[in-house]
Amino acid sequence: MSKDYDEYDTLIIGAGIAGIEAALTLGDSGRNVLLVEESPTVGGKMAQLSKVFPTLDCSACIATPKMASVVYHPNVTLLSYSSIDEVIKQDEADFRAKITMKPKYVEWDDCTGCSLCEMACPVIVSDEYQYHMRGRKAVYIAFDIAVPKKSVVDIENCIFCGACEKACPTSAINFLQKAVTKKVRVKSVLLTTGFELFDATLKPDFGYGQSKNIITAMQMDRLLAPTRPYNTVQRPSDGKEPGKIAYLYCVGSRDKTVGNELCSQICCMYSIKQSQLILGALPLADVFSFYIDIRAQGKGFEEFYQQAKDMGAFFIKGRIMYVDEEENGDVLVKYEDIDDGGKIKEEAFDLVVLAVGLWPSIAGIANVFKNVQLETDEIGWVECPLCNPVETNVPGIFAAGCVTGPKDIPDTIVEANAAVSQCLAYIETHNGE
Ligand SMILES: Cc1cc2nc3c(=O)[nH]c(=O)nc-3n(C[C@H](O)[C@H](O)[C@H](O)COP(=O)(O)OP(=O)(O)OC[C@H]3O[C@@H](n4cnc5c(N)ncnc54)[C@H](O)[C@@H]3O)c2cc1C
Ligand code: SF4
Ligand code: SF4
Repeated sequence: MSKDYDEYDTLIIGAGIAGIEAALTLGDSGRNVLLVEESPTVGGKMAQLSKVFPTLDCSACIATPKMASVVYHPNVTLLSYSSIDEVIKQDEADFRAKITMKPKYVEWDDCTGCSLCEMACPVIVSDEYQYHMRGRKAVYIAFDIAVPKKSVVDIENCIFCGACEKACPTSAINFLQKAVTKKVRVKSVLLTTGFELFDATLKPDFGYGQSKNIITAMQMDRLLAPTRPYNTVQRPSDGKEPGKIAYLYCVGSRDKTVGNELCSQICCMYSIKQSQLILGALPLADVFSFYIDIRAQGKGFEEFYQQAKDMGAFFIKGRIMYVDEEENGDVLVKYEDIDDGGKIKEEAFDLVVLAVGLWPSIAGIANVFKNVQLETDEIGWVECPLCNPVETNVPGIFAAGCVTGPKDIPDTIVEANAAVSQCLAYIETHNGE
């Protein structure tokens, strides 16, 4: 094989919990894995969550040991802050890929993660990890529990003042760094690029973007997490501790008007989880859920729902007509109450949380496959046969986790390991091993 190509058994695209789990299992079985992640850190959404349903275990406590193991695994090479330019299927068990490692403007071998550059930087921009509820600097470590814990310079917002260079004790800042392209040959490909959140501004009746006190459930998970933006749950407009909170379910799910009739599967459960966490964090608060159906199918899920009711959470069956901000920042919710004869009612809340659905994130990656066409369903999730939920239409390319459709963490982990077994079978069949 030409020296132009570095060789690996499997290319895994996306280092959320699906990609991490698959890389660890493949690595443990002696296979060489190339794990490519577009953000500076591994972990995906799981690293951003507070606790997980239905056990209320700390999400970071489960995720971080796996994040560290994958980064330091002898059989796993991680390229973070990198993007896939193209993948060409040359033959069975022979894929050629081009990957661009974006410049971080920080020499990671020298960066100790001390954050002195961050403290010196005068530029503050919105922090995407905290879902824009706080600022970050132009040179920054992705988040407190990032792995690897290294800085990157956000060059678009940098004013080149040089303060970070002066502050760095190891002279790690390097504005001359350039993008590097890497060519690899792999025997199989595993897609684990996960999901995006439904863009709630596409449902203007729910008021997202019109009132600061209407937030998404991902923002609430951040407010409840140990690495949260503030040290309590507060509403964005004035920092008031909310006494009355409404959850509006199925935003962007089971909704023909946005082209998504699918149930997002996890929104009922994460809302029930957050209700319990809020009742623990703010004992005087009242938490109301406005739902179409409670879909609590899964081991321990129904009990978890009943537990929320026992703790004092209120559940109202009925659709939302509209929400509107009042002068004092409270949010008026107009809804139907099906259990009260379908009466139309109005109630004001300090804070409204939208249980946004899951949306495919495949758009950015589907086009990199140059001579094969990866099939997706009408919504955009990677298509897999019912009897083999990790197999794509292209032999040798497998998929696991939320890239194939909404699912929770345990199902994601099961799929990651199923995909590993199929990668191994494919490699052994086509490689004559
Ligand atoms: C508000 C909320 C609360 C939740 N709470 C729970 C809970 O309590 N319990 C539970 O079981 N589940 C929960 N979930 C679901 C959980 O987040 C998912 O099951 C899990 O994150 C799926 O993991 P994944 O690896 O498939 O995807 P992701 O977590 O989305 O990871 C995908 C990774 O791929 C990377 N990537 C994407 N595109 C590319 C590309 N082109 N190139 C390279 N890398 C790329 C991303 O940066 C990311 O790191 C919750 C979800 C939400 C939205
Ligand atoms: S770049 Fe330098 S100052 Fe910034 S975290 Fe790394 S070692 Fe510390
Ligand atoms: S050079 Fe850029 S990243 Fe460094 S401190 Fe100045 S603005 Fe921040």
